Amino acid sequence: MRQTLVAGNWKLNGSKESIEELLKGVLSGMSEVKSDVAVCAPYVYIPLVEELLKDTDVAFGSQDISMYESGAYTGEISGAMLTDFSCKFSIVGHSERRTLFGEKDADTAKKFAAAQKYGLTPILCVGELLEERENGTTEAVVARQLDAVINLVGVEALEKAVIAYEPVWAIGTGKTASPQQAQDVHAFIRSKIANLNKSVAEKIQILYGGSVNGGNADELFAMPDIDGGLIGGASLKADDFLAICQAG
Ligand code: PEP
Repeated sequence: MRQTLVAGNWKLNGSKESIEELLKGVLSGMSEVKSDVAVCAPYVYIPLVEELLKDTDVAFGSQDISMYESGAYTGEISGAMLTDFSCKFSIVGHSERRTLFGEKDADTAKKFAAAQKYGLTPILCVGELLEERENGTTEAVVARQLDAVINLVGVEALEKAVIAYEPVWAIGTGKTASPQQAQDVHAFIRSKIANLNKSVAEKIQILYGGSVNGGNADELFAMPDIDGGLIGGASLKADDFLAICQAG
């Protein structure tokens, strides 16, 4: 049995005050949560999050990571900097990085490797655009995104990683993939990995992301290959996030 993981992605949201209130709210409901829980904060708030989550069961991470280690890369944040603040996770290849900031599959793969080099667990996001779903290329797109990583780091590296399947058309739109639609892609991902290494495929947590909320999380997390969620909008309010954390 794989442990369920619910990870919040706060994106470009929050202030010192709102983050303190949000995390206090989340921590107050953690006694009823069986899933592992993490929050991925904007970089500048990571020291505050580290302080607020010290000695708690909630882990934290970043929403991105530099593919570079150090040097003349203005604006970048490295794996070493993140582990200086006890980060556990780094999201890599989020669709907003891919579509709005031009991140290529090869860049995501380098970021995945950079995270692991510093002991961070990458949360590798994959998923198709609406037009790709409509023209029947969902599996080809997801396979291409996965292959970029596997070809760089090897399938064994997935043992210390999490995958998030996030259909781009479901992110922040209020349109959720049906549990069966999501399950089909999760099963495809797991079988693709199993073709290379059965044990890694059995162990890896594959999260679903895309308009998950307290009302649909139970059904989604009940699917055999869905091991939790990556949560955007609903991770910004303690009650909404806790309702998802308590599901599954
Ligand atoms: C996300 O951005 O990773 C996400 C799943 O967002 P939302 O839950 O708001 O759709």
